[in-house]
Amino acid sequence: MPMPTAPAPRPASAPVAALDIGGTKIAGALVDADGRILARTQRPTPAGEDAEGVFGAVGAVLDALATSPAWAAAEAVGIGSAGPVDAARGTVSPVNVPGWRGFPLVERVGEHAGGRPVTLVGDGVAMTAAEHWLGAARGHADALGLVVSTGVGGGLVLGGRLHPGPTGNAGHIGHLSVDLDGDPCACGGRGCVERLASGPHIARHALDGGWRPGPDGDASAAAVAEAARAGHPAAVAAFERAARA
Ligand SMILES: [Zn+2]
Repeated sequence: MPMPTAPAPRPASAPVAALDIGGTKIAGALVDADGRILARTQRPTPAGEDAEGVFGAVGAVLDALATSPAWAAAEAVGIGSAGPVDAARGTVSPVNVPGWRGFPLVERVGEHAGGRPVTLVGDGVAMTAAEHWLGAARGHADALGLVVSTGVGGGLVLGGRLHPGPTGNAGHIGHLSVDLDGDPCACGGRGCVERLASGPHIARHALDGGWRPGPDGDASAAAVAEAARAGHPAAVAAFERAARA
């Protein structure tokens, strides 16, 4: 009688390279098909530099990933970028990176990554895809993911599927106006969600309300969050205002 055959071993999962492009940092990783991070690195975003200066940091992140033994097997590159992005054209124009307007990021990353195929979406869409795959939105048919960082991004899962929209920006709620007469925003609008709810604006509002950083001088939104947890009224008010936005 033949022995039962053992289940076939799972095929080796080809990793992909992932880039997260933000107004403060550019992060990169090699990620396997189960979502495990095999290598990671990051560089500060030289947001005040010209287009090539900013791309230099992206190139440095890719070069650092290429030193990993897993790089050779990486089959593709995925990019989540601060928005707005134009996934159809492969370009990005991050509000907080003025040197990049219509910057051909997909083409440039493809060249730098040895011709590997490149997929671009907004960072909020990428984060939402990850939360739906492995995180807080797992098992939910519909979800809105929100990134609150240097900017405010978002992404949508509808009916169990990611909806990046035709340009990769669907769900990017940071530049919806919630105050028509509000402060001018870098995007040209007024009273944008981002203008009230991003990390730097949470910190600014707390400072305006009388919160002061501790002895370490940390005036980031993370420091404001710590003060809010301890009950500081101006810190709490800054987060409540952001949440209302
Ligand atoms: Zn705006």
